[in-house]
Amino acid sequence: MNKQSMFHQLALIEEKVGGLYEEIGHLKNAMLELMEENKNLLIENQHLRERLQQRETELEKKEKRQSSGVKAKKDKKKRAVVGEGYDNLARLYQEGFHICNVHYGSLRTDGDCLFCLAFLNKQG
Ligand SMILES: [Zn+2]
Repeated sequence: MNKQSMFHQLALIEEKVGGLYEEIGHLKNAMLELMEENKNLLIENQHLRERLQQRETELEKKEKRQSSGVKAKKDKKKRAVVGEGYDNLARLYQEGFHICNVHYGSLRTDGDCLFCLAFLNKQG
């Protein structure tokens, strides 16, 4: 291989690497968007679980007033489902995101957030 052909080969490789580099950048951005979306969905999901649970608790209170029902089993199952969402939220908080209604999904920059902690305590 003569020098000129070598130089030509190198230029081709350089071009390919440049293209790959650009592609990696696009993929990284797409990944970040997905992570952000996933995080927001987790938070929204937990808020919805919370509202559902509130609603069910209200309904139960109403039912209890009407009849002393036997639904201990159902309650236990429901609590497990809520607990799963709680774990997700606690992990998000550990990863540095707000999970409170006040700062909903933004990055925590000033250490612990009292709203988030209050929210977690309420769930746990
Ligand atoms: Zn917060």
